[in-house]
Amino acid sequence: MTKINLIENPYELKDIKGLGPKRLQILNEMNIWSIQDLILHLPTRYEDNTLINLNEAEDEAIVTVQGEVYSSPTVAFFGRNKSKLTVHMMINGIAVKVIYFNQPYLKKNIQLHQSVIIKGKWLKHKQEINGTKMIFDLSHHEDAQFTSIYRVKEGLKQKPLKDMIQKTLKDVTIHEWLPLDLRQKYKLESLNDTLHALHSAKDKQTLIKARRTFAFTEFFMFELRMQWLNRLEKTSDQAVEVNYQLDLVKSFIDALPFELTEGQKTSVNEIFRDLKAPIRMHRLLQGDVGSGKTVVAAICMYALKTAGYQSALMVPTEILAEQHAESLVQLFGDRMHVALLTGSVKGKKRRLLLEQLQNGEIDCLVGTHALIQDDVTFNKVGLVITDEQHRFGVEQRQKLREKGALSNVLFMTATPIPRTLAISVFGEMDVSSIKHLPKGRKPIQTTWVKHEAYDQVLKQLASELKKGRQAYVISPLIESSEHLEDVQNILALYDNLKIQLPEAKIGVLHGKMTSDEKDQVMHQFSDHDIDVLVSTTVVEVGVNVPNATFMVIYDADRFGLSTLHQLRGRVGRSEHQSYCVLIASPKTETGIERMQIMTQTTDGFELSERDLEMRGPGDFFGVKQSGLPDFLVGNIVEDYRMLEVARDEAAELIQSGAFFTEDYQKLRTFIEENMLHQSFD
Ligand code: ADP
Ligand code: MG
Repeated sequence: MTKINLIENPYELKDIKGLGPKRLQILNEMNIWSIQDLILHLPTRYEDNTLINLNEAEDEAIVTVQGEVYSSPTVAFFGRNKSKLTVHMMINGIAVKVIYFNQPYLKKNIQLHQSVIIKGKWLKHKQEINGTKMIFDLSHHEDAQFTSIYRVKEGLKQKPLKDMIQKTLKDVTIHEWLPLDLRQKYKLESLNDTLHALHSAKDKQTLIKARRTFAFTEFFMFELRMQWLNRLEKTSDQAVEVNYQLDLVKSFIDALPFELTEGQKTSVNEIFRDLKAPIRMHRLLQGDVGSGKTVVAAICMYALKTAGYQSALMVPTEILAEQHAESLVQLFGDRMHVALLTGSVKGKKRRLLLEQLQNGEIDCLVGTHALIQDDVTFNKVGLVITDEQHRFGVEQRQKLREKGALSNVLFMTATPIPRTLAISVFGEMDVSSIKHLPKGRKPIQTTWVKHEAYDQVLKQLASELKKGRQAYVISPLIESSEHLEDVQNILALYDNLKIQLPEAKIGVLHGKMTSDEKDQVMHQFSDHDIDVLVSTTVVEVGVNVPNATFMVIYDADRFGLSTLHQLRGRVGRSEHQSYCVLIASPKTETGIERMQIMTQTTDGFELSERDLEMRGPGDFFGVKQSGLPDFLVGNIVEDYRMLEVARDEAAELIQSGAFFTEDYQKLRTFIEENMLHQSFD
């Protein structure tokens, strides 16, 4: 989470008057550790209970109105403990029948001709309000206002939390980070007013204004940091020229078992241009699943070797690391010494590997996060590649980059990130795209069926197996939470399939298996010792078994389009026709729409755009694992225009040099000390 220091006179949480150890502990449990955390504990929502005129309310709106009682209430009991209270009222000149279900006790409080505030659903056509709340004391402000609602915890209710925040807000002085001219130019409020409004706006307009200022501030500070980092990197004289030996690289390309596609050729050329220039490469290589990014990476790594440099390839999962290492070994033969470093490489083996890495015997190191541990030192690394980069945090990439102070960086991704968005959040990044799949691939035929059709799907699957092909059956579980019951689901699916397809060899793969076990199963599948692989989404990224042509995705509606697309990309990797069957009985409109879109297109770019339209960026990229910055108020997709403006203003401030003058001393120091190296995830 991007955090901006907002307080000029910070003091400790425990110094809040009247805050006992018990409350302090509750605050800590809510992840509130400082005054800053407390005032940034923003309401999760706002309840609009402002009194309105019923004549202006739409049908079925939830309204808060004031009226006068003009009939004695009656209560009818029915069923078990059920009741319906009816009372007639005059509200803004309209005679309204007000009904409360299961609140019979209200009756004794309701007096004829009394004025009360009621909250409920306005059924205009029936002149009826289905009430939820009745307020007798008209001076009871909170319930008849625009009210902020906080996330709370047992032992700390809304009201005391709100009071505590209000009191703290009064006691602190807020840094006004935004330059005054920007505030005037974009009609932004002071940060002090903004914070007050975020906590206790009295109406929607004030709140919208406050959110705007806060989002802009977050974006601006973030962009300042990005632009400054860029400047530091670009002006660094450590950039290397990679003087690769073209003839060797060419002979390597000629020896490949296929011809490069146009997109691959262009990408290689663009990357090579960067490598040769005395700059640090900062490039994104995007291409749909199966478009052949690995080979492009291999060519680059080989080029580095011919120039006397090592390279590193970092991927998100062990299986993927193993597969990559394997396919690189195959591609390189004895041209390159490829080594694999994952969490399961330990002890003596690891020590030896680190030694070889340090003395330069290893040309190319492939691995997971294990690559960025502190004791991993390269001899002379000239290129760092991350695959499926949207799964890495900015911080991890940063750390990897620091491993080789001189390194060129290539990010590879199958998730097309809108270019402008990428530039705004990652800084100036060059983009290469592989737009088309290798020739001869047939588009994957995708169908969507409901659960009832499962037997039918099994028949299709069996007939594919008869042709000698292999299949995946995926039960797409949320990967980070492979709960026991999910594993049980997978195992049940596996047991059933063994009975349903008695002739086939069935294997199973899930996150609770050790990496050795997973590895073994993956190998059996890729050696065709297994016909059908029942798996969770651990196969999602990058796994390559070309003979697999049939994919069943169970409960497909549990995932977003981009994940489904990634999964589907496991098939369609050879000249054989491939199929993907989505089994889902979605209950929501968007669920249905998603299934339909999947059957309509296999174009990753189109899917990502549709996905972006249907959901926020958080869902789309999975912010937590995306490496995209996560802002408190700002939303990088919805507020995208604002992000652009903030970026331009930050760039202007830095490029004009104004940022490096006395006027910005304080802001500069703050960013330098707190933000330049801070994690944004
Ligand atoms: P991704 O872009 O999803 O990482 P891969 O690099 O795994 O794709 O490539 C997918 C498959 O396509 C691999 O089996 C690879 O050998 C093959 N491939 C890559 N480039 C070509 C090409 N130009 N022609 C034919 N097959 C190719
Ligand atoms: Mg790949």
